Amino acid sequence: MPGFERFGAAEKEQVSEVLDTGVLMRYGFDGMRNGTWKALELERDLAKRMQVKHAQTVSSGTAALTVALASAGVGAGDEVLIPTFTFVASFEAILALGAVPILVNIDDTLTLDPDAVAKAVTKRTKVVMPVHMCGSMADLRALKNICDQHGLLLLEDACQAIGGTYEGKPLGSYGDLGCFSFDYVKTITCGEGGAIITDSDLYKQNADRYSDHGHDHNGSDRGAETHPNLGYNFRISELNAAVGVAQLKRLDEFLAVQERNYNILHTALKSIPEVSFRRVPKGGVQSYAFLNFFMPTQQLAKKVHTAFGENGIDACFYWYDNNWHYFRQWEHLLQQKSLGKMAGAVYEQWPDYDRMDFSTSDHWMGRTVSCLIKLGWEADDMESRAQKMAEIIRGLV
Ligand SMILES: *Cc1c(COP(=O)(O)O)cnc(C)c1O
Repeated sequence: MPGFERFGAAEKEQVSEVLDTGVLMRYGFDGMRNGTWKALELERDLAKRMQVKHAQTVSSGTAALTVALASAGVGAGDEVLIPTFTFVASFEAILALGAVPILVNIDDTLTLDPDAVAKAVTKRTKVVMPVHMCGSMADLRALKNICDQHGLLLLEDACQAIGGTYEGKPLGSYGDLGCFSFDYVKTITCGEGGAIITDSDLYKQNADRYSDHGHDHNGSDRGAETHPNLGYNFRISELNAAVGVAQLKRLDEFLAVQERNYNILHTALKSIPEVSFRRVPKGGVQSYAFLNFFMPTQQLAKKVHTAFGENGIDACFYWYDNNWHYFRQWEHLLQQKSLGKMAGAVYEQWPDYDRMDFSTSDHWMGRTVSCLIKLGWEADDMESRAQKMAEIIRGLV
């Protein structure tokens, strides 16, 4: 990540095609378009690449999560299980629908712990939402078993893990629904954008309608279309989709760069006995978007992160203190600071987080150091970066 580091002629060409038609809207204007339908093209290409029946592109990854939940009928009072380590979009999407986000402990995969999920299921639970943070996944088979047992939906947030696989299936395609973000820092970027993938005809139809004011999209005359249900505007524009079309064709090229860069760093760090790595579940292949490793103590992890920064090793994170990604800093969520009143169920069903035990999450997150694997890093510079990182760690342990 991110895909913009490798922008080139292909992206420009795609955008020019749209500008030449003058049609920036994904629907209608059939006569002017000269056969150019970039959002549709991106949907077809993505569904094919992800080996699913349908893709629905939308305006962002956050919109994708919201539309995915809405398309599966999630609404007021439904509980959605999410990990303590994620991005704020997870609970934003849930709250937007009047549903209730329930935080659940992570394990050494750095995403949902299946045992903790099993314990968190209530009769109001509707969805289990693993978030494939930093390019790798949860024990999806174990989560799917829990979902099957209780009749729950499995919704994969694969925004940071496009290109990874689990049991041979592309991440995002294993659950009932999968979501991607194509925002400015993701592996595939179109500036702002996102997508939902699914094999369900019903979810696709609902997603298509919900993301465009509930329009049924029967025919090209928007004025004559009916509204089978309420919706919203979560459309992607043709310009954004055009960039995505070019970027998606380059996904394998990007994944190869991520894997190469990851392996060089991984090889250098694994010779240090104090360093251990985030567990990739059996059957899983990462997208290599990040390298995540554990230090023996929280104090050492902090020191390594600080020393990386002081010594010019960029793009490394200590997520435990980060207010976008770890629940300890989400005072707005924990104190329910909405601009207006939230759905009643959100208050009535709100867990007593002060009394809940999140020590397992702290145990893993507190010791995690995370390094983004940049697409812009050239092979020649990787060895010296890797040696420098290893040297810094050796100097602290
Ligand atoms: C980026 C991201 C999102 C949201 O995507 P946007 O396109 O920025 O709205 C959701 N979940 C995860 C894990 C992300 O990294």
